[in-house]
Amino acid sequence: MSDLPWYDVIVAGAGPAGCTAAWELARNGKKVALLEKHALPRHKTCGGGMPMVVGDLLQFKEIKDIAPEAFVEADTRYMRHTFDFEQPCLMPMNAEENGNVSLWMVQRSLFDYALAQRAQKAGADLIQSMPVCSVDTLPNKKISVTAGREGEWSAHCAALIGADGANGVVARKTGLYEERTCAIAMEAEVEHTWGEGHPELRRDVVHLEYGVVKGGYAWVFPKDNHVNVGAGFFNQRGAAARKKAGTREFLQQVICQYLDVLQIKYKKEDLIFHAHPLPIWSGMRRLQNSDATVLLAGDAAGLVNPFFGDGIFHALRSGQTAAKCLTDGTAQQYTRQIADMYRDNFDSALRLSKFFYQWPVFCYRFGVQRPSSTCTAARLLCGEAVFGDITDRVIKRVRAAMTHRQNDARKPGHK
Ligand SMILES: Cc1cc2nc3c(=O)[nH]c(=O)nc-3n(C[C@H](O)[C@H](O)[C@H](O)COP(=O)(O)OP(=O)(O)OC[C@H]3O[C@@H](n4cnc5c(N)ncnc54)[C@H](O)[C@@H]3O)c2cc1C
Repeated sequence: MSDLPWYDVIVAGAGPAGCTAAWELARNGKKVALLEKHALPRHKTCGGGMPMVVGDLLQFKEIKDIAPEAFVEADTRYMRHTFDFEQPCLMPMNAEENGNVSLWMVQRSLFDYALAQRAQKAGADLIQSMPVCSVDTLPNKKISVTAGREGEWSAHCAALIGADGANGVVARKTGLYEERTCAIAMEAEVEHTWGEGHPELRRDVVHLEYGVVKGGYAWVFPKDNHVNVGAGFFNQRGAAARKKAGTREFLQQVICQYLDVLQIKYKKEDLIFHAHPLPIWSGMRRLQNSDATVLLAGDAAGLVNPFFGDGIFHALRSGQTAAKCLTDGTAQQYTRQIADMYRDNFDSALRLSKFFYQWPVFCYRFGVQRPSSTCTAARLLCGEAVFGDITDRVIKRVRAAMTHRQNDARKPGHK
């Protein structure tokens, strides 16, 4: 018998995927270690926007051990869209005034820390400043995990969840890493006094700009006493952009331009820009090893929506699913369960994303600006609608409008 500590499950990474997995496992009686590379709370490069259904998924109302008020800094119900900072349209997320769809805005440092503490309270050992550095699968389905800058922490476990994000090591160390599209996004947090600046700069409005970043978009998300301003590439082009010289400078410039347009006061020298890769969905992958003792969740599994670029909700869902599979003995079904949840939806989202970013001017004019589009986008983000329901329809409508335009342009006398 080894002297090393034994865990039923070790979870690598205390982001939304890892914390949810650890919480779910611990409250179901499993002995769990949640290993995090950094000391918590830590900054996480992110816009921090997520659908309010996260509250249902995490059972905030039923369990009452954590209140969303502790970290939800704004509950947004409107989207303000622009193209090249022009043609603005402010649209509600709900068709009816009393509709319940909204997007929560959090600071990831606080949100992730609250989830990590929740997992700890449920019984997980939360081990911080301890990056997983090596993983060895031993005979008898046993896994040896070593962590720490000097490899100072080691333990054995029956299962390992790789929830260690876009640059995680678990996938690489266990043969589960596959080359995939990795885009890039950047954000900065800027102090703001509500009431100042552009009249539509409000705590219930998210701002989205589609023209300035080719193959992506920029955003301004409201928070408590600041705004999160960002820009990113969210399609295949992003992967190329990530490696191109000048991309960082370009994204920084877009962020400053957005601040200027919305008349948000800032000092350029005070801005801290954070950039991070986004492993956007590029088709279903194998998310478990052959004996299903290693499972990947969240960004480590490439579960970022290829249209919106959001990943928090999918990290939470996949972390929870991984934990449930390990608890109820269905780990061999994990990849299939995730495929059932995401494959069709994200494949359709990818198709729409390719079309949208190829024809952004037309998609803005004949898609985004339609009054119903904001409600549809919010429902897609919440999982109340799927891309399969809309992708063909949107592409057909925009194509028809484009053809109509071209035919008009060919008519004699058309200017
Ligand atoms: C600029 C930007 C803006 C974004 N905005 C949004 C948004 O508004 N809404 C949205 O839904 N999504 C957004 N995303 C995507 C979102 O941030 C991710 O999809 C989400 O964080 C994934 O969660 P996760 O738990 O899988 O991974 P992460 O949140 O990345 O967490 C992984 C954790 O693992 C830790 N870790 C890494 N390596 C190791 C290791 N070796 N050992 C132990 N721990 C390790 C990390 O420190 C981290 O805490 C954005 C991304 C970017 C880059």
